[in-house]
Amino acid sequence: MYPQIIEKNNKQYGEYLKRRKEQEILRQQQLQEHQKWKQEQALILKQKTEERSRIEAIAFIPREEKERQGYEQVKNLFTQQENRICDSYGTRWIQCEICGEIKTDSNFSSYGGIDRVNLGICSECSRSGERSKS
Ligand SMILES: [Zn+2]
Repeated sequence: MYPQIIEKNNKQYGEYLKRRKEQEILRQQQLQEHQKWKQEQALILKQKTEERSRIEAIAFIPREEKERQGYEQVKNLFTQQENRICDSYGTRWIQCEICGEIKTDSNFSSYGGIDRVNLGICSECSRSGERSKS
């Protein structure tokens, strides 16, 4: 009788240990997932904060400085006429067909079209052209 009871108890104890181990593994997994989630949230918050400060920093950059940086970014890109050329601030840049200067789109009276997406006639050339006509 006794050895049977002991064996039964051992078996139950073994199952109990197994269950506990499984529960412990599950708990660890949940903990890891929670930590992962926390890290992700922290990363998202960090990215948001960085993005906000980047936007704020851009807002403080004078227009002249943005144009200077933008010009440096785009000046060598006028080798194709299929895609619009914009700098990292989102400003569009156009090359004048007459004087050859590269300026922001606000300096052009007309620009764009098929096979001349990034070409136009700048306000200055447009004005002097009209002057010479009259
Ligand atoms: Zn021009």
